[in-house]
Amino acid sequence: MYDYDLLVVGSANADLVIGVERRPGAGETVLGSDLAVHPGGKGANQAVAAARLGARTALLARIGDDAYGRLLLESQRAAGVDTVGVLVGGAPTGVALITVDPSGDNSIVVSPGANARLAPRDVRAATSLFHASRVVSAQLEIPLETVEEVVRTLPPDTRFVLNPSPPRPLDTEVLAACDPLIVNEHEAKVLLGEAYDVASGPEDWARLLLAKGPRSVVVTLGARGALVASSEGVVRVGAVAVDAVDTTGAGDSFTAALAWRLGAGASLAEAAAYAARVGAVAVTRRGAQESFPTADEVEALRG
Ligand code: ATP
Repeated sequence: MYDYDLLVVGSANADLVIGVERRPGAGETVLGSDLAVHPGGKGANQAVAAARLGARTALLARIGDDAYGRLLLESQRAAGVDTVGVLVGGAPTGVALITVDPSGDNSIVVSPGANARLAPRDVRAATSLFHASRVVSAQLEIPLETVEEVVRTLPPDTRFVLNPSPPRPLDTEVLAACDPLIVNEHEAKVLLGEAYDVASGPEDWARLLLAKGPRSVVVTLGARGALVASSEGVVRVGAVAVDAVDTTGAGDSFTAALAWRLGAGASLAEAAAYAARVGAVAVTRRGAQESFPTADEVEALRG
């Protein structure tokens, strides 16, 4: 009945990475490594993560008519994502300029570029994609009014999953549509405001966030796993013990996997347990999209 298991609405960026001995201060020039260019952006990452697991996935995003845009299209297509919803033009492709020092600390400058031009009218023009999708996921690297239009465009039977990253306060219409709202500690802190300071820990954050209106909440806790909260209560999902080498993209692969499994009929706790396995494989490898596992690789982790 549905053409897509998951429609991802979000950002697509080129990550330009240079390794440096020391990150430059104001007015300073330092020499660094050769430039590495990686496809990234939370929307593009989620779409690749879902498609690599085997989900029939489409991406609604905006890129520039330039070389980085073509790189992003290629990486989506190579993973098997349907790029019919990827719009081209209006501004240069979004770029993240990243310098990383030997300790792994980085400095990042983001030019949202075309991501900032993904407009509510682009969502309305893609209504048929929404009707063809079992689950829709979004993040906040695109304009908030575009995410609000996504919520208004959702067909009644389509499930909505939101990772509010980078975090901003959300209105009640968006919060009420989330099933689940997926946050890490930083995002929980921004969304909860003063209530965060009096909360006793992740269970409390989850309960307080749930009281703001989402149908369900997932709190991701890195190497400590995750917890899920709904009207049925709060359930802990243990992390899978692995040797982590790079946590970049763990949250994106977790969200994509969770959204896909929910669409396939899994309970929230089951979907989160599967997503924790996906995130665990992803952190054992370097990079973001390069680190996302296939379903077979997730299975292999069980054995
Ligand atoms: P991101 O760095 O992508 O923004 P995030 O903060 O949104 O990540 P995390 O909580 O770091 O999300 O990771 C998502 C999930 O991936 C976790 O809930 C956990 O299940 C899994 N995960 C992350 N780090 C580890 C780890 N070191 N070991 C095992 N599992 C991990």
